[in-house]
Amino acid sequence: MATELVLLGTAGAPMPVAGRGGISSALVIDGRVFVIDCGRGSPSAFASAGLDFTRLEAIFLTHLHADHVGDLPGMLLYPWGVRADGNGPLPPVRVYGPSRPRALPQGDAIFHRQTTICPELPAPGTVDLVGHIVAGFAYHLNVMPLDSYMPDAGALVRSTDVAAPTFSESGAQAPVVVLEDGGVRVTAVAVTHGRAVPALAYRFDTAAGSIVFSGDTSVNEDLIALAQGADVLVHQVADLEYLARHGVDQPGLARMAALHTDVTQVGGVAERARVRELVLTHYLPAEPDAIGDAEWARRAAQGFGGTTTAGRDGLRRTLPLG
Ligand SMILES: [Zn+2]
Repeated sequence: MATELVLLGTAGAPMPVAGRGGISSALVIDGRVFVIDCGRGSPSAFASAGLDFTRLEAIFLTHLHADHVGDLPGMLLYPWGVRADGNGPLPPVRVYGPSRPRALPQGDAIFHRQTTICPELPAPGTVDLVGHIVAGFAYHLNVMPLDSYMPDAGALVRSTDVAAPTFSESGAQAPVVVLEDGGVRVTAVAVTHGRAVPALAYRFDTAAGSIVFSGDTSVNEDLIALAQGADVLVHQVADLEYLARHGVDQPGLARMAALHTDVTQVGGVAERARVRELVLTHYLPAEPDAIGDAEWARRAAQGFGGTTTAGRDGLRRTLPLG
């Protein structure tokens, strides 16, 4: 019984950068493969990590910004041809993620939209997104089987909107159980990522240990509660001071502070969650040469008594931790 974490991509923000893939992580739990977010390049990173597309069971989306879901179509469609065995198609890949928000968020005088895309459904949820991906690639799904052996396209994918967590009298969230079977229990809470509502963090409890993925969030008490005592906390990190030095103006910085946990804060989050290891990911700035791994780790470790590791594409961690 082993659980292995593999960082497939560690870049923050949608803009492609050289030397880092977009945010995506994988967990291999007793041979079963789960992917958390599908940022830029994640299908290629999945293959480069030696992971097996026939063992991909489920994908968990933290929120529906493009840097987290942009390569979801590829993660589903590229390996379609191998998702069968002698008994027919493999069970569909399950995709879990945020539901539609209750209302389309409003902007303000500085950050606002001019054009509303798709006014009839301006804020689709995960089930909507997957349905649109399948519909958008209907040509491929309906035509390619005429020239190649392909599993039944009806077995490609199943999607589920994660129910919104409920709040107790104290104001704390009761984590939602997203998946539970013999080998893995996945729970989620809503985190705070600006106007990206809902945005989720996930905790995976396995026989070999527990791993939590922050998604994108400012410092969030419900995430700290969700992560209590976990072996590994995979957490996004931003350096707002760096962004200030490189021309981000005051409204932009204030906005970023509502979206992200700063490098000066993430060690305190890990300490309060009493995790054993903090693994940094989803870096902002994303360029690997902007801030070196040692510098990220040194600064993020402040206030944290456990191990701090600057994640990089391809980093692996096996549970139980040694
Ligand atoms: Zn992000």
